Amino acid sequence: MNAASTKTTDTKPAPPQLDVPLLDLCAQYAPLKQEVLAVFEQILDSQVMVNGPAVTQFEEEAAAYCGTQFAVGCSSGTDALILALMAMDLNPGDEVVTSPFTFFATCGSIQRRGLKPVFVDIDPETFNLDTTQIESVVNEKTRAIMPVHLFGQMADMDDVLDLAEKHELKVVEDAAQAIGAAQHDALAGSLGHCGCFSFFPSKNLGGAGDAGLVTTNDEEVARRLKMLRNHGAHERYFHDEVGGNFRIDTLQAAYLSVKLKHLESWHEGRRSNAAFYDAQLAEVKQVTTPVIAEGNRSIYNQYVIRAEQRDELQRYLGSAGVGSAVYYPLCLHEQKCFDYLGHKRGDFPVAEAAAQEVLALPIFPELREEQLTHVVDTIKRFYA
Ligand SMILES: *Cc1c(COP(=O)(O)O)cnc(C)c1O
Repeated sequence: MNAASTKTTDTKPAPPQLDVPLLDLCAQYAPLKQEVLAVFEQILDSQVMVNGPAVTQFEEEAAAYCGTQFAVGCSSGTDALILALMAMDLNPGDEVVTSPFTFFATCGSIQRRGLKPVFVDIDPETFNLDTTQIESVVNEKTRAIMPVHLFGQMADMDDVLDLAEKHELKVVEDAAQAIGAAQHDALAGSLGHCGCFSFFPSKNLGGAGDAGLVTTNDEEVARRLKMLRNHGAHERYFHDEVGGNFRIDTLQAAYLSVKLKHLESWHEGRRSNAAFYDAQLAEVKQVTTPVIAEGNRSIYNQYVIRAEQRDELQRYLGSAGVGSAVYYPLCLHEQKCFDYLGHKRGDFPVAEAAAQEVLALPIFPELREEQLTHVVDTIKRFYA
């Protein structure tokens, strides 16, 4: 045994090896390569690198895909959140209710707008906002709810929309991990005042770098978003308000148009991989497989299990060639930069427990059956 081995793995023989990365984008790119290169060549030859017809085309396609009237491309998922919050006309100090168990950008964008993030705990099954707790934190300063559709499954939007109507709150959906996810017949990003999407390469629809999108059904909000992403200009060099440079690159829009056509089939591939894991891991009592709430259609941006001895399992998977990741190891209320909110460990026990137990397994659509089997076998061997 080498010195780097951990206590647990010391007692186990080295597991059989097969390379199963957490995510491999090369397999997805290969069949698209010629089409992408042709589209890129056309744009590069034209030297229209900002705005232009490729951006308009992608926005139309994205709006149609998301079931919304409008879609406004932008520079990242983080900037989509910033833009949406800007367009909601919130004032400094206004409170925005959100989840402590999400990617940093959810809360970072609230903070960067001078707004106050207010957390409520999560549902232990879906890892999404426990919407039954929202009302307990609503007060006269509360102006918005930012539900996060984590790992590809939508938060309970019936509850969110009811509360928003009752208390006159804006709803900005952080749908960064959920393009194409649905609840009953509604798609992620189509129910709130705005829906915010990310095309970071690891999302189900990944760009060739950073890009994002805001959806809305409100024409006035769409108009504001388009101005705000372009320094607030309604016409070049004429500014009614201060926005920023939040534009999407033309090359990104063109790349995303090529990929969008395949998105449904990629979702299907992830779903069938998830079904395989669900069935194979059902007998492993130390593991809880993802729970998809009634009426939800997940796009499985991540397949996240809860696992006993999570850290040891992760090391053991690594020693067998299997990639995995912890989303997220530290809740947002415990991050140093949010110390000023005055939270302490124990404030959101369900989220804190999740941070200790969750583990994301490889779920990308191109996984081969032998790879899926290897992941399951390795988990079973670990607990045997
Ligand atoms: C990825 C992500 C973001 C930010 O998107 P970027 O494109 O990386 O800026 C925001 N919220 C959630 C939940 C995300 O997963």
